[in-house]
Amino acid sequence: MQVNQIELLISAVAPAQYPKNQLPEIAMAGRSNVGKSSVINRLVQRKGFARTSSQPGKTQTLNFYQINQDLNLVDVPGYGYAKVSKKQREQFGKICEAYFQERATLKGVILLVDGRHDPSEDDQLMYDFIRYYDRPILVVATKMDKVTRNHQAGSLQRIRKVLQVPKSDLVLPSSALANTGYEDIWRWTEQRIAK
Ligand code: GDP
Repeated sequence: MQVNQIELLISAVAPAQYPKNQLPEIAMAGRSNVGKSSVINRLVQRKGFARTSSQPGKTQTLNFYQINQDLNLVDVPGYGYAKVSKKQREQFGKICEAYFQERATLKGVILLVDGRHDPSEDDQLMYDFIRYYDRPILVVATKMDKVTRNHQAGSLQRIRKVLQVPKSDLVLPSSALANTGYEDIWRWTEQRIAK
């Protein structure tokens, strides 16, 4: 997709604050430091648009970006950072539950996992959580430039196995460093928002 216009509509914590523009929506989730900001910046072809999290686990808001007149892209707060308090963890759960449960315009969720490792327990929980709410999911493995070429297929296969991704669903590789994978992510996104 050609991104001509992008705007941060709101950083929301509660449903009453969600944008009312009725555009189809795609959410993006992943643990802190997985490379979510880098993926967003690559997707929207802007440097430094989504801020890379200097304090992982601190930003507990859903950031709604409007792209052209086409869609909202929602940046879900990063999870899995060891040093967050119990209260922050609970707040994260509440924010996500409210959003995934009731957002009628949400057409799909992109879940980012680190391509170098097996998905963490938190990744598995998040995957199951999104599935529970019956949302279509695209799993994207990040930092694939760090995985040698002959290990890449195996890495994607392991992610698929640990998360128990159905055969019909995609697991895509990406690298912000090499700027690869984003056309495929856009292709999936465009298919989702057309439905
Ligand atoms: P966020 O916390 O999920 O938003 O992650 P960031 O986008 O801030 O990235 C976390 C760290 O991983 C930063 O040091 C990035 O430079 C690095 N990083 C992100 N994407 C890639 C990638 O595709 N390849 C490599 N090698 N490093 C990456």
